[in-house]
Amino acid sequence: MNFDLNEEQREVWRWAKEFADKEIMPRVEENDKKAAFDWDLYRKIAEQGFFSAILPEQYGGQSVDFIAYALMTEEIARACSATRTLFSVQISLVEMPILRYGTEEQKAKYLPKLGSGEIIGCFGLTEPNAGSDAGNQQTTATEDGDHFVLNGQKTWISNGSIANVALIIAQTDKSKGHRGMCAFLVETDTPGFTARPIEPKLGLKSSDTSELFMDNVRVHKSQMLGKPGEGFKVAMYCLDQGRFSVAAGAVGVMQGCIDISRKYAMERQAFGQKIGEFQMVQQMIADMVADCEAGRFLVLRSAHLKNKGVRNTRETSIAKLFCAEAAHRAAHNAVQIFGGYGFSEEYPAARYFRDGRVLSLYEGTSQIHRLIIAQDELGIRNANGPGAPTTTFDRLSGLYPEPTMV
Ligand SMILES: Cc1cc2nc3c(=O)[nH]c(=O)nc-3n(C[C@H](O)[C@H](O)[C@H](O)COP(=O)(O)OP(=O)(O)OC[C@H]3O[C@@H](n4cnc5c(N)ncnc54)[C@H](O)[C@@H]3O)c2cc1C
Repeated sequence: MNFDLNEEQREVWRWAKEFADKEIMPRVEENDKKAAFDWDLYRKIAEQGFFSAILPEQYGGQSVDFIAYALMTEEIARACSATRTLFSVQISLVEMPILRYGTEEQKAKYLPKLGSGEIIGCFGLTEPNAGSDAGNQQTTATEDGDHFVLNGQKTWISNGSIANVALIIAQTDKSKGHRGMCAFLVETDTPGFTARPIEPKLGLKSSDTSELFMDNVRVHKSQMLGKPGEGFKVAMYCLDQGRFSVAAGAVGVMQGCIDISRKYAMERQAFGQKIGEFQMVQQMIADMVADCEAGRFLVLRSAHLKNKGVRNTRETSIAKLFCAEAAHRAAHNAVQIFGGYGFSEEYPAARYFRDGRVLSLYEGTSQIHRLIIAQDELGIRNANGPGAPTTTFDRLSGLYPEPTMV
């Protein structure tokens, strides 16, 4: 096993770290207070080429690998989880599914613009009555000549009010269940498509989160992403990608909590000494560091499998579950280390605490990830597809053939 980063990965990490420190950190508090999307920061991220990082060169991208992508995501989240959400949605929930399932025309039409930041994307799966139970889609898509007509509502959609294109999952034939679902690339200026921000929220205040409404939205058949009936498959692929970036973001939250706690613990005095010299404070720091390092390696393991092109639903679920919950523990400890000041919005611990809370809710709640992991372990449902070797070590040993490639 090789734990070294290659030159390109190191370079991308440095690039993201510098950007996060110079451009995101200085405005994170103000953006959180204003609770408004920062268009100026968005343009800077776009100009730097962050949104095109994983795209192949033919679409204007830089083809960075998943390890570099994870490190970039971590760095952005270390500074600001709201900005990380924007970044993850654009790349993992919109660009990657288009890259995987799009026709050549769809790729040429959308990927260069998403990569340059000329347009913003969002991913609409969740509905008022279909969250964890994503198969219970009520949004309908009815065939009408060369078009489908979409009707329904989506909720909790990141980037929903600022997006130019929405990847929408809809049901074309209820009697077919999952197999009746289709994915569509819907341009948000299509008549009948409207969005409304969900406000106020507990955290991620400068990230746009919206409800989407579709009232007889006509979408040309050429805008279907994937084949008819592949909507659920497309959605699950999106979640595999999105969960990975949420896990990487959670590592960034942990690192951010460690950074602020280290500084505070070595400045704040009590009983005539630095609080960092008390062993009970050291215990909290040690727990944060151990969680952060363990989580980072889980994310990099998923990244490694993704780089190899093998299915990684199980490993990504483990990374997402562990990192999200470890980020909660880290934010809780950061507030504790800051004492009463941890309860004040004038100090950063409160923001990490609020922003970190969503990590175990979106892209599969912790309960859903526990279901995926336990059902895989018990042989009830193999997360990586029928016949996939069970443990990651089996998979990486090369002794067992990989039945499914994603
Ligand atoms: C800030 C934010 C941004 C989001 N962005 C997006 C986005 O861009 N696109 C998108 O499509 N969605 C998005 N979501 C939606 C998110 O993915 C859902 O909220 C999530 O999947 C949970 O669904 P729900 O809210 O309907 O909760 P429910 O599914 O109703 O769950 C409620 C509770 O019941 C538990 N539960 C449900 N089923 C089971 C079960 N089988 N076993 C055990 N426990 C269970 C859950 O774990 C949870 O604790 C976002 C959410 C938030 C908060």
